[in-house]
Amino acid sequence: MTTPALSGAPCDPGIRLYVEAPLAAGQAVVLAAAQSHYLKNVMRTAAGAAVRLFNGRDGEWLATIESLGKKGAALAVTARTRRQQPEPDLWLCFAPIKKARIDFVAQKACEMGVSALQPVMTRHTQVTRVNTERLRANAIEAAEQCARLSVPDVFPPRKLDDLVAGWPAGRHILLLDETQTGIPIVDTLRRRGNARGRPWAVFVGPEGGYAPEELDLLRRLPNVTPVGLGGRLLRADTAAIAALACWQAVLGDWTAPTNP
Ligand code: SAH
Repeated sequence: MTTPALSGAPCDPGIRLYVEAPLAAGQAVVLAAAQSHYLKNVMRTAAGAAVRLFNGRDGEWLATIESLGKKGAALAVTARTRRQQPEPDLWLCFAPIKKARIDFVAQKACEMGVSALQPVMTRHTQVTRVNTERLRANAIEAAEQCARLSVPDVFPPRKLDDLVAGWPAGRHILLLDETQTGIPIVDTLRRRGNARGRPWAVFVGPEGGYAPEELDLLRRLPNVTPVGLGGRLLRADTAAIAALACWQAVLGDWTAPTNP
């Protein structure tokens, strides 16, 4: 859910809500209590106001609030404002970190356009449980805020060995390897231009780094590209966001102009 929109901001997308329902002209959409509360008590809207809805499939649509109450809200979909756009297929495979920062990773990775978040339990991962519902809520809020037309999938946590054992061969891996700081990420990605438009995944290790045998395991996969992020040792969340930015700038959708 978005923070109160700045009134009059030129690029103010207004209130945007992610819904599961199909979106088409004349479609009725019912909001559950939480989203209704948000509209009524946080954004102080009322019946008759217009909001934008998106569901990751049908583009973005204007909808008019027909009723707004404690138990829920009813909206009537009116006109499409944006067509659904194809988006890069880019997973972030990350070793979960402590609560506040994992929320940060979910939000920023969503803004960076990832298509999925895959928590990975590695040898040095210090976190034992991952609240995927919390990750999804953070991703939805970030998607509403950044005017995305989709919300990344949040997969259940996997052990690194299991993930590697069943790794889809066609998905390229950008491995953030702090022992390979001599391999510059942008120059390396530029040489992988033939893999533009293919499925990719960025792998970032835990606070304690990958164990050597984990790096060996990952390097043996087909289509792995180990890279460094310069000579400074970055926190896992910093490294993840920095690498996603480089990937989007070289192989992703920061290169082509987006259609409105
Ligand atoms: N072993 C160190 C590093 C962990 S940093 C420690 O214990 O603090 C967490 C993860 O961020 C690393 O596993 C790696 O995936 C990534 N990372 C951090 N700095 C990096 C760099 N300069 N180059 C490549 N990856 C880096």
